[in-house]
Amino acid sequence: MLVLKNLINNNLEDPISKEWIDNINPSNGSIYGKIPNSSLDDVNTACAFAKKAFENWSVTSVNKRSEILIKIANLIEENLDTLAKAESIDSGKPLALAKTVDIPRSAQNFRFFGHAITQFSSDSHDMAHEAAINYTLRQPLGVVGCISPWNLPLYLFSWKIAPALAAGNCVIAKPSEVTPVTAFLLSEICIKAGLPQGVLNIIHGKGTHTGEAIINHPDIKAISFTGGTQTGAHIAKTAAPLFKKLSLELGGKNPNIIFADCDYNQMLETTLRSSFSNQGQICLCGSRIYVEKTIYEQFKTDFVQRVSQLIVGPPENNESDLGAVVSLPHKEKILKHISKAQNEGGVILTGGHAISIPNHEEGYYIAPTVIEIQNHDCSIVQEEVFGPVVTLMPFYNEQQALDYANDTNYGLAATVWTNNLNRAMNFSHKLKCGIVWVNTWMLRDLRTPFGGTKNSGVGREGGFEALKFFTETKNVCIKY
Ligand code: NDP
Repeated sequence: MLVLKNLINNNLEDPISKEWIDNINPSNGSIYGKIPNSSLDDVNTACAFAKKAFENWSVTSVNKRSEILIKIANLIEENLDTLAKAESIDSGKPLALAKTVDIPRSAQNFRFFGHAITQFSSDSHDMAHEAAINYTLRQPLGVVGCISPWNLPLYLFSWKIAPALAAGNCVIAKPSEVTPVTAFLLSEICIKAGLPQGVLNIIHGKGTHTGEAIINHPDIKAISFTGGTQTGAHIAKTAAPLFKKLSLELGGKNPNIIFADCDYNQMLETTLRSSFSNQGQICLCGSRIYVEKTIYEQFKTDFVQRVSQLIVGPPENNESDLGAVVSLPHKEKILKHISKAQNEGGVILTGGHAISIPNHEEGYYIAPTVIEIQNHDCSIVQEEVFGPVVTLMPFYNEQQALDYANDTNYGLAATVWTNNLNRAMNFSHKLKCGIVWVNTWMLRDLRTPFGGTKNSGVGREGGFEALKFFTETKNVCIKY
């Protein structure tokens, strides 16, 4: 049985309460580990060490901080197989995906911010007429909290921690209790990489318990959160009166708009990925597909045929296109969404049910599902499912496509397929979201701003945006 520990002041510690949570393998429903059920006491202890460590870490040279982050990146790469296997078992995602996407990207996050901090600078404003100059310092905030979800566990955990550390902050981080193992393995890697004591503290536990202790803690100056919209709203309500800085990356219901003039084959292949990668549990997945009427029937036939050929199977099997969804409650939630869609008039074109896999009968498998809809107000179009479920609907003209695309409370990302430059430009301007892809999906440059509008969150991560979030400006005006 794998028993995880908290990382506090570079020691691997049991929770003070000695209470544990079961860790469940979604591919077969078995309990295979124990996770600390940490409380305010653990968070208090970690904060005290982090505050102390900040005195040195905040003035450690940029080169030294960069060197340590790059060392962490190297160690992640050296442990690729172990980390990928752990991620796949913990989350149910195909091992091949963990090996080619999750873990390499986690290493890249540390390497990227290890380099980025060496290029980060601040402004100066000359007032020659007054014989004065302003220069603006960008100082680390102090102790910051990083809270991440279960869908891309180490990938999103490191996406927050790396810029926070690079900018000179000390961190109290909590991975999702559903997928904590790679965060635990990262603890060992960070100790080995020479990260000084107290600089990074990883506290495991439930959101409603450990997470609450972090967001309420008076010594934690900022919260970088990725997760559901409801949780984000709760965090905002809690943190605002404490004047914490907040970055909230929340849910999505992203449109995938397909025009008849697109490169059809490339679009079809990419749309399979953008619909069902990681069992559809990526905030950037295109869960609402809109197709121009002239190619709608052709697309429907081709897409449904390709989706029905996708293999759902144990994550460790190389041929599995989709593995298990992350937990039993999540599986039940997805199936409820599907049945509600049917009740509201949606027509299941393929999938729509759970799957039993031989020797993994207790695992959480769902067939990739395509639902044709007539009515844009129905809940399957408006509510985030975060599973292997997409909706399909035709549109007749550009304005209608744009209206559909913008008609949800979410605004994270959108994809547009067209070879018409004017149309691509027009849509890119008018789509109400933080990220637009034209003729591609999930092509990421880590220097670019990442984040959503409307109920998809506030603030931007990525590149210097993240380093700005994790620093506070101070203007100094000198008269000469
Ligand atoms: P949750 O909001 O349930 O949880 C996210 C994290 O917050 C977990 O670590 C969770 O802990 C913790 N948490 C839960 N309640 C609290 C609380 N009261 N105080 C502090 N922390 C808390 O989201 P999921 O883990 O279910 O993740 C799925 C969601 O994340 C989807 O809505 C998805 O769209 C969104 N997401 C957004 C992304 C973006 O960049 N915009 C990227 C990826 C996902 P625990 O798990 O232990 O309860």
